[in-house]
Amino acid sequence: MMTDHARRTLPVADTAAVWRHTRALASEHRGLVAQVLALHALAALAALAAPWLVGRLVDLVSGRGGTGDVDRIGILLAVAVVVQTGLTWAARRAAFLLGETVFAQLREQFVARAVNLPLSTVERAGTGDLVARTTNDVEALSHVVRFGVPSLFVASMTVVMTVVAALLTSPLATLPILLGVPFYWISTRRYLRRAGDGYLWERATYAALNGVVAETVDGARTIDALSLAGVRRSRFQEALRECYRAERYTLGLRLRWFPAVVFGYNVPTAGAIVWGGWLAITGHVTAGVATAVTLYIQQMVGPLDELLGWLDEIQVGATSLARVIGVGEVPPDRVATGARPDGPEIEVDDVRYAYRTGHDVLHGVSLDLRPGERLAVVGPSGAGKSTLGRLMAGIDGPREGRIDVGGVPLVDLDLGDLRGEVALVTQEHHVFVGTLADNLLLARPGAGTQELEEALRAVDAHEWALGLPEGLETVVGSGGHALTEAQSQQLALARLVLADPHTLVLDEATSLLDPRAARHLERSLAAVVEGRTVVAIAHRLHTAHDADRVAVVEDGLVSEIGTHHELVAADGPYAALWASWRDEPSPVAGGSPASGRHPSAG
Ligand code: ADP
Repeated sequence: MMTDHARRTLPVADTAAVWRHTRALASEHRGLVAQVLALHALAALAALAAPWLVGRLVDLVSGRGGTGDVDRIGILLAVAVVVQTGLTWAARRAAFLLGETVFAQLREQFVARAVNLPLSTVERAGTGDLVARTTNDVEALSHVVRFGVPSLFVASMTVVMTVVAALLTSPLATLPILLGVPFYWISTRRYLRRAGDGYLWERATYAALNGVVAETVDGARTIDALSLAGVRRSRFQEALRECYRAERYTLGLRLRWFPAVVFGYNVPTAGAIVWGGWLAITGHVTAGVATAVTLYIQQMVGPLDELLGWLDEIQVGATSLARVIGVGEVPPDRVATGARPDGPEIEVDDVRYAYRTGHDVLHGVSLDLRPGERLAVVGPSGAGKSTLGRLMAGIDGPREGRIDVGGVPLVDLDLGDLRGEVALVTQEHHVFVGTLADNLLLARPGAGTQELEEALRAVDAHEWALGLPEGLETVVGSGGHALTEAQSQQLALARLVLADPHTLVLDEATSLLDPRAARHLERSLAAVVEGRTVVAIAHRLHTAHDADRVAVVEDGLVSEIGTHHELVAADGPYAALWASWRDEPSPVAGGSPASGRHPSAG
């Protein structure tokens, strides 16, 4: 089991990387970006016609304009509104298209990266963080990319164009616009300085909460059995409290920021009325000009509000983006060198391995597998048997030393090739949502129906499989046809037959099954094992008795290796283990002496 302090979270991309990524996306879609900008500029331009026309109207009415002029301006106003509506529609459409395209791309990149994450990294970081990134972060990002980016385009174009139009109408009357700047400038800067860290904290607390919930659900039975409900509940409460604290903090930031900003909008409008009124009275500008500028300034409030509002969400989005693209920064735990093994021999040479730096759990393990043999690995619990098994299956590389197949380190093979050499078999198996054929094809893409049926026959599963309503095309997995525990396990074994590795590492493959299912499955397993080299991480000594050789692992070292009879004769740790197991009244029902009792070595 993984201890909490050994857990490290997945990387988060830094600001520079987020910018790089955003720039790359923008330049990749520059055609669409240019189209969006141009359409929004035109829409904003059309929107500026109305205040100008109203200004003209005011001047006409206060001067000596005829009704004909008034009618003309009325018609122009109507045309301007129609044109603006059409342009806005087109601009929004283009912007949504852009947002959806970019988001789909980000999501696909993320999925590709997530499924290619090294297993060792996922195990170390815990699934909570990854789940939070897949759900909360992708969702937050989706919101910003699909709605925020389009709105940002509209708002910024509108603000810029409106300021320009107001200045063109009368720079003097436009002066009050500056009154708002200090309000939103200072408060927004204050806010943005704190918000990034605040949201990062908030997201991290969600991830932690997800982790606690996922762990509790996964371990529900253990928790029940050990009466840990209270402990779990208080851990859950603590995680929830931390979420609450983080949310309160960011909410507090927003609560201080928003009122200042709203003040910043309204002061210039009020200023424009007073200042424009005075200018008109004193004859510096006409009443129409003052009206137009005031309308422009007031018209800016909407887009400005949208802009600042999105700044906030964009912070959240940027944090999520940093976490989403951070997944891609996990260095691969293996680089395929292209070297080809020249045989099926697996050699373990002076292997050291640590889950945490400075705490080796394997201290220099060496052993050679003889092709076709069945080697049982026994020893007390926590000695490093499963760790050795994972390394021998190439799931992770050793910190020092080598594990080679045919002279090539396992971690120098790409994953597809590795699975053709050696595979790890555990009690964990998964039925993926899809057809039965899809589930099998995972192990050998491109296999024909004949091969799939043969694989099922090999594990004694063809009868029930072909008897399903639609045979190989039956949809299984959650929501589909429900397979029994034993059937799912057979499916996993059939995948092994298809992957066809010459070596198997069995980690207690059938021990958690009920005895009836286990007996049946043992036949399937025996068929899969036939003709392959097998390393059996044994927790029941009869496995060891039947094996060709037995390796005893104690404290991260192989202390003995040989046949059952040799080791019993040598009267070492294995002999003691064997004696205590044999004397046990009901060995199988009594659990696994190999993992439970540890006779003193020597
Ligand atoms: P065995 O299979 O013999 O019971 P393991 O290989 O599971 O032993 O464990 C060997 C040691 O490594 C133990 O001390 C265990 O606590 C530690 N360990 C196992 N898995 C992890 C992990 N994912 N993170 C940190 N330590 C681990």
